[in-house]
Formats: sequence, structure tokens, C-alpha cells
Amino acid sequence: MQGLMMDYQLTLDRILKHAQRMFPHKQVSTKLPDGTLHRYTYANFAQRTKRLANILRQLGVQKGDRVGTFAWNNYQHLELYYAIPGCGAVCHTLNIRLFPDQLAWIINHAEDKVVFIDGTLLPAFERIALQLNTVQHYVLFNADRRTETQLPNVVFYEDLMAEADDDFSWAVDDEQTAMGLCYTSGTTGDPKGVLYSHRSMMLHTFGENQASALGLTEEDVVLPVVPMFHAMAWGLPYSCTMAGADIVMPGPHMTPAALADLIAEEHVTVAAGVPTIWTGLYHELKARPRDISSIRALVVGGSAMPRGLIEAYEKELGVNVVHAWGMTEMSPLGTLSKLQSHHRHLPDHEKWDIKARQGYALAGVEMRIVNMDGETLPWDGVTMGELQVRGPWIAKSYYKVPPGPEHFTADGWFRTGDVATITSDGYMCITDRTKDLVKSGGEWISSVALENALMAHERVMEAAVIATPDARWGERPLAVVVLTPSAGAVTVAELLEHLAQSFAKFQAPDRIVFASEIPKTSVGKFDKKVLRHRYAEGELG
Ligand code: ADP
Repeated sequence: MQGLMMDYQLTLDRILKHAQRMFPHKQVSTKLPDGTLHRYTYANFAQRTKRLANILRQLGVQKGDRVGTFAWNNYQHLELYYAIPGCGAVCHTLNIRLFPDQLAWIINHAEDKVVFIDGTLLPAFERIALQLNTVQHYVLFNADRRTETQLPNVVFYEDLMAEADDDFSWAVDDEQTAMGLCYTSGTTGDPKGVLYSHRSMMLHTFGENQASALGLTEEDVVLPVVPMFHAMAWGLPYSCTMAGADIVMPGPHMTPAALADLIAEEHVTVAAGVPTIWTGLYHELKARPRDISSIRALVVGGSAMPRGLIEAYEKELGVNVVHAWGMTEMSPLGTLSKLQSHHRHLPDHEKWDIKARQGYALAGVEMRIVNMDGETLPWDGVTMGELQVRGPWIAKSYYKVPPGPEHFTADGWFRTGDVATITSDGYMCITDRTKDLVKSGGEWISSVALENALMAHERVMEAAVIATPDARWGERPLAVVVLTPSAGAVTVAELLEHLAQSFAKFQAPDRIVFASEIPKTSVGKFDKKVLRHRYAEGELG
């Protein structure tokens, strides 16, 4: 027997309509390139989004066409996040930090028809223009009309906006319609496109706004530092508007000092970004304190938040850290590490241990760990296995790539490529990416655990551990360490002594090298590919 409920399609225009109806006075604020703050209301935002949808039509964008965005986090980008899917097209967010060849490859692979470009990023984009095969129009914003460019067929966003019609009927009536396209940054292999649907993004938005997840409300002031070109800014552009939260966006002003000012001045309650951003902010706040007591959740994900940094934020700055894990393939939110009622009695240091884990699955996401034979492993907090997930906002295939067993299991789970343990109360802890584990003499050594321990040392700012080839053991760990400026020197012997408190001798790195910085990927993660090349295969290897 079938249920008798409405067939109400989960399309994203419904979020916008709700926001417009319920929260017309809520604010969207953006730090403009010149440093001033642009503010407007949800009512203005909704009206301009309709105008933008008309502009897309005028430019010849049809249902299913891919439309690229090359921009910082700003109000125009937010308008694009709604207008492109609203007219049935696919919002393809382009990572502004990719190497030119990779960016051109992605645009050609996606066959973008129109690309919207933030004027502050025009020189970076012009470098690849000659390699692009499918783009018919370029639309510039944050750009003076006198801007000279070699790009062909350039039009200006605000010119079009001034003439566009206010009325637009949202064009999607099937929730399975594609709405967004995001390529993984290729930390492992070629970039792969993940194609979200209206339905998957709507369900992700509900999932993210559960009270046990981010639980945003109209009382929140949210600062997405995570770029809108990285995994859909973790879904915040949709979950904020659904909740009616005020949104604050940094534009190009991403320095720790600028972010600290913005948090203090705008009384931000929820800020989200990768660990390197919060490392920078912590040091800024220690050097030049600001009042950031408005923050109720400092959300961090994208790579492991070092345990020491969680403790430092909570103990020294009184900031509640919410560690989250996700993947581009998961829209991206999968797990979140908030404390539960049975943790209340624990001493602080044990609470921070829990927060350093990646946490429990959101309702809507199922996870399991399996061994190399595909057998499901116990949730005992110790047994490590490959993490697999399934759920309504998780990819079932990559764009233009037939699903293969290296990513998807025969029984319908996605293989994350992460290695994890799960405690009996459901808290998942990533020990590594499959390819970053150090496999030494038949034992697995977690590079993440070593990094965390090193970064807990007061003189260490950043540490990354990689495997180096070893004739006897197969692989041995090598640590690259960046010291905290001004904290004074430390010797390799002292660091090894520090590690000996929590690691067996065979787990400790054979070599520790000091560096002035750790190379980062385009989304701010430790770039272990470069480190491996430099230290494991290069002249030092
Ligand atoms: P990529 O790094 O391949 O470009 P994503 O940005 O989608 O792609 O990253 C997903 C991966 O990032 C996860 O598989 C995991 O390895 C890592 N990751 C994300 N959040 C965390 C976290 N909180 N702790 C540890 N690793 C994380």
C-alpha cells in the first residue's frame, strides 16, 4: 500500500521563497574589495536573484547548462547560488586557487556555457581564457566598467542587473534536476565532478540544520570562511537562508586580522573554516586580543583539527569548537563532534579528546568500517577500517565517469578513502587517508595521530607526517615541522621525547625535519603529494 501524502518536490526555490516570506529584514553583509561593508536585506537579495535568473535566460542559459562561478564569498556569489539552480541550470563553483591548466581542464570537462567572474580575480582567469572551448559569455562583477580585458564577450553584472525584469517563475519542477557541480580538488588523483540535485541539497540543508548538527536559527550570525568554491561552502548558503540567519562574508579579506575584526564587529555566532584558518586566527588573537565571545560554535573541518588547538581555543579563549567531517561527495557534511549528555561528567581533557574525533553521523548518513576483504568491523574505538557511507546526499557516481568498484561498493556504499575507528557510542575518528597511512613492518601507523601529538607541543605550529620508503620496514614515518614564531628553538631529541609519552618506539618518526612552512593544497590542506615529492622521492629521500 502506498502512502497518501503530497508529492511536494524538494526544489531549492522553496528555501528562497520561505526566506523571503519569513525573514525579509535579515541581513547579508559582505566585505567589499575596498574594505567597506556592503549590506542588504533578504528582500533585496531575493529580488536581485530573480533579476539574475532573467539575465541567465537572456544569455541563453537553458535547463541543464553548466554555469561557472569564479569568486570569493560575497553577495553576488550567493545570488548565483540560487539563481542558477532556480532557472534549471547547474551552478559550477570553480576553485580560484587551482593551477591554470587544471582549472581550464575542469571548465572544459564541465562544458561551462557562461562564467561569472569576480573582478578582483580577473588576471588569474585571463591566463586560461585561450584554453577554454565552450564558454560563450563572461560576466564580470566587482569590476569597473572601464576594466580592460582580453576576454571575449564580456558583459557587466550590474549593467544587466539594472535592466533586468523583477519577475521570474522558478523553472524546476523535478527535484532530481541537477543543481550544482563541484570538483574534488584532486588531493588524490584527477579532479572528479560531483553533481548535486535539488533533492540532495535540500535534504542536506535539513540535515545540517538539525539541532544535533549545526542547528542554525534566525538568531545566528554566520560567517562562512570556507570558500563557496570548496564543497558548496559546506552547504551554509542554503542552511543560513533556510534558517533566516544573518550572513557575513569576508570577500577577499581572508587574513587572520581581517577575520578577527569581522567576528568582533559583526558579533558572529557561527564561523566555519578549515584548521589552517583557525590556527592563524588563534595566533592573531593571542597577539592582539579581540572580543569574540559572541561565537557559539567555531566549526572546523576539511582536515583534522589538532587536539591541541581545540584545547587552546576552549581553555584560553572560551570558544566552543565543533569539529566536523565531510567530503565534496557528501554535499559535504557527514559527521559532527558535539558532546552528548553522557559526556557531561567527564573532565575537560577527556571532552577535548572527544571533540578531536570527527564525531557521530548526522541523521540521514549511515557509516560503517570494513576491512580489506570487505567485512564489516566492530565499533570498539580501536579497530581501524576503511570508512564507507551512504545516504540521500551522497554521490552515487562521478560526473561523466561510470561508477567503478574503487569508489562504490556492489551493495551501494561510497568508499571514502579514509581509514577510521568508531567508538561504541558512535564517534568516528579518522586515523588517515588510505594512501597517507604509514605501513611499517606489517603495522599501520597513523600519520594524523603523530601530527596531532607534534602539534600539541607548545613550540610546534604545524606538523605533517608522510611515509618514506624503507628497505627493511617497507615504509617509515618522516615528520615535517614548522615552529611557532617567537616561541624559541626545540631539538629533534626533545620532540622525540615528547612523542615517547604516547607512542611506541616503532611508531615514532625516523626523521624530523624543520621547515618554514608546510605546502597547502588549493583548499588549505597539507599537500602531502608535494611533501612526498620533496622528502620521500626528492633529493632528501
Ligand atoms: P579533497 O581533499 O580530495 O579535495 P574534500 O575537500 O572533499 O576533497 O575532502 C574530503 C576529505 O577531507 C575527507 O575524505 C577526509 O580525508 C578529509 N577531511 C575532511 N574533514 C576532516 C576532518 N574533520 N578530519 C580529518 N579529515 C577530514
